[in-house]
Amino acid sequence: MANFTTHIGVAASAGAAIAASGLSAQLWPLTQAPAIVLLVALGGIMPDIDADKSRSTRLIFTVLAITAALSALALARPCLSILGATCLALALYVGIRDVVAVVFRALTRHRASWHSLLAVTAVLFSTTTVSYRCFGQPARLAWSHGMAVAAGMLIHLLLDECFSIDLEGARLKRSFGTALKLFDYRRPYATALMAGATLLVMAWAPHWPF
Ligand SMILES: [Zn+2]
Repeated sequence: MANFTTHIGVAASAGAAIAASGLSAQLWPLTQAPAIVLLVALGGIMPDIDADKSRSTRLIFTVLAITAALSALALARPCLSILGATCLALALYVGIRDVVAVVFRALTRHRASWHSLLAVTAVLFSTTTVSYRCFGQPARLAWSHGMAVAAGMLIHLLLDECFSIDLEGARLKRSFGTALKLFDYRRPYATALMAGATLLVMAWAPHWPF
């Protein structure tokens, strides 16, 4: 399988190409280009979120913790004092980075449910919905954010499969076919949970604007 540096390097380069193409097609303004590059790069390491003690896991949970803390600050500020909102943001940051991450690692297995097209769909709808509902982005931009992360994830799965091909020995390694799959056939409960969560988030997603 490809390592962390390969995944983030390839995804960030693809992100720059996608950001530039979207800019010339007038899909987003110049100010959005860095966000698109970052989201594709983040998607590029997202499937390895289930790899115990990996750099991807630490980085993804830190980004998720910061996003949740910032959202809490923005959403809770009208109802709470500045001290209350800051405490809530801090609690969310520490909770996601140090508690949710540990529980998540204990419950998941590497190259299982998160290396699948179902996971790509789940993250596509979740990112779009969070961008639209929590950050107040217009539907068109929210879908662009969701598709940027999904594109990064697809690149990751393709890279993992490419690294499963032993060109010198002209044979397929045992890991071939474990990254790019529709869903995790061997874990029906985890798959059902992910499919259910995806359907739930779909109901909250904005309409397709393109
Ligand atoms: Zn992987």
